[in-house]
Amino acid sequence: MTSMSCAKPSKPAAPKRAFRRSAVGLFRLSLLAAAVMALAPRGAAPTGAGRETILSTARTITPEAVSLGRENDGLHELLDATGNSLGWAGSTFPQAASIHGYNGPSELLVVLDTAGKTRGVRLIRSEDTIGHVEKILADTEFWSQWNGRQDASLGDLGSPRVVSGATLTSEAMARGVAARFGASGLDQWFTRTVDPAMAARWFPKADRIEPGDHPGVSRVFTGKTPSGLILRSSRMGVGARGFNGVSDVIIALQEDKVLGVALLDSRDNSPYTDDVADELKFADPFAGRTTAEILTDTSPGTLVVSGASVTTEAVTQTVREMLRRHQAEPVRRSIPASWIVGSIWITLGVVLGLSKRSGGARTRTAFAILSVAAGLTLGWMVGQDQWIGWGRNGIQPSTGLPLLLLTAVALLVPALTGKNVYCSRICPHGAAQVLLGSMRKRRYALPPRLHHALRRLPWLTLIAIWVLALIGSDFPFAMLEPFEIWSAGFHALLPALILTIGWIAALFLPQAYCHYGCPTGAVFKFLSHSPADLTRRDALAAALVATAWIHHLAT
Ligand code: SF4
Repeated sequence: MTSMSCAKPSKPAAPKRAFRRSAVGLFRLSLLAAAVMALAPRGAAPTGAGRETILSTARTITPEAVSLGRENDGLHELLDATGNSLGWAGSTFPQAASIHGYNGPSELLVVLDTAGKTRGVRLIRSEDTIGHVEKILADTEFWSQWNGRQDASLGDLGSPRVVSGATLTSEAMARGVAARFGASGLDQWFTRTVDPAMAARWFPKADRIEPGDHPGVSRVFTGKTPSGLILRSSRMGVGARGFNGVSDVIIALQEDKVLGVALLDSRDNSPYTDDVADELKFADPFAGRTTAEILTDTSPGTLVVSGASVTTEAVTQTVREMLRRHQAEPVRRSIPASWIVGSIWITLGVVLGLSKRSGGARTRTAFAILSVAAGLTLGWMVGQDQWIGWGRNGIQPSTGLPLLLLTAVALLVPALTGKNVYCSRICPHGAAQVLLGSMRKRRYALPPRLHHALRRLPWLTLIAIWVLALIGSDFPFAMLEPFEIWSAGFHALLPALILTIGWIAALFLPQAYCHYGCPTGAVFKFLSHSPADLTRRDALAAALVATAWIHHLAT
């Protein structure tokens, strides 16, 4: 009897196991999704820092302040030890909460003296890219630009000083200050409206501009007669990035003929954009040509401005893309080359990671080199700071589709197949460690007890990060992982230390950071462990997520 039961073929159990594996994987993914969703702010816009934070931050400007007095219109009175007023301090939230840089909003504190003059501005917290925030913190001229200005003038954004290499984040901060003091519409980056006076250069008799049938297309009228069209890149969702940001380009069209192109506004560096705007104004190379002529002319150098080649190329690409979309209704989007290259890299990584014949050491090394190159050029990485930012602020338009694809691959594949292809093949940081490890023949191993103790570190870091995130901590979580250095460079000390120590360790211990440090790797291990069975880790994760939701609903 025993032999008969043992002899039963095992194949019929395979579909059942596959079903269990998928069910367990989906359960784990739903736990992760529930944790991310528990980070979403509830109810109205965030109210900003509490009184303690306001006071402690204000004291970096006004050290004599010992307490806060009355509150007026979101400004807290600063009092000295004898109760005398020293001025006022106010957060830029909630007005700045919807103004995002690259990855989230920043909250600043503005301190005024008793006469309403600005004594100083400080950062309270930022959910933006930590490397950019560090650059801005080091730029004293950025922070002093408001000093001495009367509170009544702070709502005028003007042309704020922005920090090179962190343009979007620093401009978002400046916009936040202006929004706090009365400016509106600053979460929209290009706010100028196109009116008949602006279009008079091409349509001198026009008296009316109305929205057209497609986003970013306006119809120009002279009396009741349609005179032509104005295309606007920011409203069409077109924006080739120049040296330091995108530009808002308009095109005047009459039937199929381009009457002219102009630079309405730009987030690129001003010396370049001024020259490009002048070139378009006085020697517009697009004017008088048909849409077809511009689209078929792919030669570089249509628009030439000495010393501003990156900006001119970005404007030229923007013009071509606007015309291409306008011509191809319904709207067709062209796919940037980096997206195609990145998608091929991700697909290859998945194929190699899932393949039973992975190609041996040479293929592994070649793909590791490709992953490092992709990491250096594209900067796409998956990390805890990113997921927490998405949970708190939603996914921003600046998040490209490939990064979403990379995240989906990194999460779905281990959950549904039990194979962690992101860590084994794709992750540039893991690949760099593989390459470093291959540089030395001799490998070491930690004593078993130390190895077992250190293996807990990624899990403990992961739990600490998520507990802090779920209780609303403002801690910059990107500091706890080295990934941002790949896109922002060495600007923050802690990630730089983690990266350096991890890479030195990788020379001696295979993928040391992956084994003993990486909280993101722990998530993928959680998704891929015991693929068809629920374990104690699942029970613990479910308990943590349930607690998070109880806390979320209660606060
Ligand atoms: S463990 Fe972390 S660093 Fe290592 S490959 Fe995975 S995600 Fe990358």
